[in-house]
Amino acid sequence: MSTVLVIGAGGVGSVAVHKMAMNSQIFSSIHLASRTQAKCDAIAESVKQRTGVEVATYALDAEDVPATIALIERIRPTIVVNLALPYQDLVIMDACLAAGVDYLDTANYEPKDEAKFEYKWQWAYHDRFREAGIMALLGSGFDPGVTSVFTMWLKKHRLKTIRTLDILDCNGGDHGQAFATNFNPEINIREVTAPARHWEGGRFVETPAMAKKVEFDFEGVGPKNMYMMYHEELESLAKFVPEMERARFWMTFGDEYIKHLTVLQNVGMTRIDPVLYNGVEIVPLQFLKAVLPEPASLGATTRGKTNIGCIATGEALDGSGEKTFYIKNICDHEACYAETGNQAVSYTTGVPAMIGAAMVVQRIWEGDGVFNIEQMDPDPFMEMLNQHGLPWTVEELDGPVEF
Ligand code: NDP
Repeated sequence: MSTVLVIGAGGVGSVAVHKMAMNSQIFSSIHLASRTQAKCDAIAESVKQRTGVEVATYALDAEDVPATIALIERIRPTIVVNLALPYQDLVIMDACLAAGVDYLDTANYEPKDEAKFEYKWQWAYHDRFREAGIMALLGSGFDPGVTSVFTMWLKKHRLKTIRTLDILDCNGGDHGQAFATNFNPEINIREVTAPARHWEGGRFVETPAMAKKVEFDFEGVGPKNMYMMYHEELESLAKFVPEMERARFWMTFGDEYIKHLTVLQNVGMTRIDPVLYNGVEIVPLQFLKAVLPEPASLGATTRGKTNIGCIATGEALDGSGEKTFYIKNICDHEACYAETGNQAVSYTTGVPAMIGAAMVVQRIWEGDGVFNIEQMDPDPFMEMLNQHGLPWTVEELDGPVEF
């Protein structure tokens, strides 16, 4: 029995709230706040129709810290689940500290004026959270989140040490639009246009964005081009699996997506510095977001599957030499939409957010301070993935990846 406050009424927030309502024995009182209350109300209406559960809704600008503290003090939640944007991570952590409640998110802090995400800003809150006797759980989405837990599960049950790790994120869904992003366009485009970085030989190696491409045959999807890029779990995994010689992150993109993105970049539409337009300062990427389809609106038309997982090579736990394992989840866009009214990219993030919150409110995962999901016991989380819509499989491969 717990009270939860979710902040952010996008696709991810919608899935998390639907799944919390489906688990009302854990989340007995659900509150949803976001910048636009109408979006909270639409989610509450869908939850009511699908589950019969009432969700209380509020208008909140999370960047107004006193307003967030006042709302937290009014509701007295066990946990605040931040499913707004990475820009709001620190202000919501500030509000949690002031009000003395636990915190969870799915994406690490990113300053608005620099396309750079790093854990250092959030890790700097560790002592203050510890002294306040509260917990912040960072990165409880799919990647980061499930991919981090997959890695730690392999390290607990299959491999004594991990020598190489490849995280493969494939979205084989087709939404029928010429160009759209499956989660917040501004965050998505900042992520894919940033230089690629991977962990090798004890340091991060930087290469130009989208420069390294490999074709991979994804189960349930088929062959797709995937591109090496930087992703935030590489930073936390390099810290918590220090023996890794190499760790890389790959994401699939279709040729149409790359073509549109290249043109948008070439004409300056992905810039994040303000430009003067008719006497008003606008940020081109923010303007672009305003004209692109809302990710939440893509659910009804998206067909196909996502396939996200980790391939790890290392010394087997049973002493049988070097082994390679592939652990993954395959998720169907249409099934996600039928269950929650959202496509699989929102679903694969919102479900782990619900599960992470369930771990914290039930005190299955405990700690005072700021923790990455890799620091927690993977087993109870992995069990809930199987029970709540994200079943996973693990198989042994013949040898290490050849790319
Ligand atoms: P959306 O843009 O669809 O939703 C974000 C929501 O946050 C919107 O409802 C928005 O309000 C609200 N919001 C924005 N600013 C504020 C603010 N200052 N105060 C209150 N509410 C605010 O994004 P998604 O649902 O796709 O993504 C949500 C989060 O999940 C992001 O941080 C994203 O990076 C993360 N993510 C993580 C993944 C993972 O696997 N770990 C994968 C995908 C996403 P409004 O509608 O008014 O703009």
